[in-house]
Amino acid sequence: MSTHLLSKSSFIKGLQCEKHLYLYKYHYNEMDELSEMQKAIFQRGTNVGELAQQLFPNGILATTGKPPDYNKGLIKTNDLIKQGQKVIYEATFRFNEVLSIADIIVKYEDGLSRRSAAKPEWNIYEVKSSTSISETYLNDAALQYYVLSNAGLKINDFSIIYINNQYVREGDLDLIKLFNIESVLQLILPLQDFVIENVERFKNVIRNKTMPQIDIGEQCYTPYRCGFFNYCRKHIPADSIFDFSGMHLKKKFDLYREGIIKFDDVPGDYPLNRNNGIQLDVYKSGEPIIDKNAIKNFLTELSYPLYFMDFETFQPAVPLFDNTRPYQQIPFQYSVHFKKSADSELEHFEFLADPGEDPRQKFIENLLKVTEPPGDIIVYNKTFEKTRLKEIARDLPGYAEQIDERLSRIKDLMIPFQRRYYVTPEMKGSYSIKYVLPSLVSELSYNNLEINEGGIASITFESLQTETDLMIIAETRKQLLEYCKLDTLAMVKILEKLDSL
Ligand code: SF4
Repeated sequence: MSTHLLSKSSFIKGLQCEKHLYLYKYHYNEMDELSEMQKAIFQRGTNVGELAQQLFPNGILATTGKPPDYNKGLIKTNDLIKQGQKVIYEATFRFNEVLSIADIIVKYEDGLSRRSAAKPEWNIYEVKSSTSISETYLNDAALQYYVLSNAGLKINDFSIIYINNQYVREGDLDLIKLFNIESVLQLILPLQDFVIENVERFKNVIRNKTMPQIDIGEQCYTPYRCGFFNYCRKHIPADSIFDFSGMHLKKKFDLYREGIIKFDDVPGDYPLNRNNGIQLDVYKSGEPIIDKNAIKNFLTELSYPLYFMDFETFQPAVPLFDNTRPYQQIPFQYSVHFKKSADSELEHFEFLADPGEDPRQKFIENLLKVTEPPGDIIVYNKTFEKTRLKEIARDLPGYAEQIDERLSRIKDLMIPFQRRYYVTPEMKGSYSIKYVLPSLVSELSYNNLEINEGGIASITFESLQTETDLMIIAETRKQLLEYCKLDTLAMVKILEKLDSL
């Protein structure tokens, strides 16, 4: 049986860049390794897709195997349609060497469809775990419509199912409210010529077997960071203009296309904003910039006792608890280091929720108790912790007054770095604690930890919701506690360093 040249995903890759399509087909092994976060996002898509199938119960899955056997999927889809199956999941079609797997197809049931063979018969549903419909989703749907309709399916309507971020869970999950179902038929019909044109273009790229000569550019980042990002950037040296922190992408590529690639290539009179100018100066001199007066002023605003506080949150796409929305950030862990005075012993407090239950009440009760005695509460990037506390005050109004009191005591340790009072070459233009800490306190490092960033902590805790192996749960809890503790210990050490100046 003949196979396919293109699929939905390779079509989207081709729209991003012909070279992406080519590399994916012929140099798959060169693809960047998926990060844990990317894997978690894919898994989330699968989970949401399976949940959305429950909107149309009693369907039959047409694909088999992992990865799916497409030829079997084609045969099974065809058989199911012939047998009169009304709901099919992962229905597989091929036309003009393009393969397409539709998430859900449902036989149109208004009684008209069976009177004439020419009447449209099927509603097609594509499921996305996002909270809106993007241009990429429309291109993806347009390609599917092209394949399915030309493969002989009479399509009545084509909809995208996506997450309704206004849904607030109360009791059992309400799938009708959790998902938005929006017809995009009128948006994808006018895209059919665009699809036909690009299908031919991409098939030529694949048949030619010659790598398209395309240089890196803005396309490498949209709609997603390309999987061959590192492969195509082998010629970019360390300390390049792509390391300018916060610089607009267009400006970076303007520099690149002018042949200015390394920091050392940037002319002395090249117009840069203040932060990039400082970053370049620090790189070229190899010396830190320290504004001792500004740091002193910052420090005089802090008064002991001091609390050093950090939260971890997770964001389930499908709300797990009552009174939560899709993708709501739910705090499940905190670490607090406490110093009564500059010379006193450091004390540590922590909380980590048990998986499977709404952590918010225990989290806030525990935190309010620990932070009750007066004293400044130091965080790193106050927007995050303040927003989470305000959300808890909204969801659990009984604690609002105490939360307001804690909010009034929060001070942000990020300020000296964000305002560039203290800049070192090792910070590489960043004021994230992940760069600031190793630069100032080399003996403390996130590198040896299994969980070494907030995103990983978040997906790890989410994975615990369904974990039943007690050993794994215990080990994961230990890793989460170590990570969060390091975040607040890092703040203690950074403050000591600032003090020592
Ligand atoms: S990294 Fe950029 S240039 Fe390379 S294949 Fe991807 S999109 Fe194309």
